[in-house]
Amino acid sequence: MNMSKSWTGPTNAQQQAQTEIADRLADVGFVLPGSLTVRSTRCGKSNCACHADPPRLHGPYAQWTRRHKHLNLTPDQQADYQQYFDNAKELRNLTRQLETLTLSVIENDPRFANRTTPTEHFDESRH
Ligand SMILES: [Zn+2]
Repeated sequence: MNMSKSWTGPTNAQQQAQTEIADRLADVGFVLPGSLTVRSTRCGKSNCACHADPPRLHGPYAQWTRRHKHLNLTPDQQADYQQYFDNAKELRNLTRQLETLTLSVIENDPRFANRTTPTEHFDESRH
């Protein structure tokens, strides 16, 4: 076996970074799937104040969207669930950080030599 071609795995610094992300993941708490949007709307009645100039829109309404379906939340539901949506965002953020870190761990694997690296191949900058 050619030792210059062996992969050494994560560095101490990368291991430390993984531990820090894992600690934060452990603290995420409850997470709700989908997304929460708050919007004000117009109704179908042309003589309603929402069509006046200036318009007085209905709402704001909190809407939970998941799998292309919408569910209206009451204001107190929105207040109670907001943290769960915030936690879900934090979870996605930490997952992305962990993925980016892990990509950097394997980026210098010599077994990719003379081929495109994963970052080039999947073009991480495109999304
Ligand atoms: Zn209206």
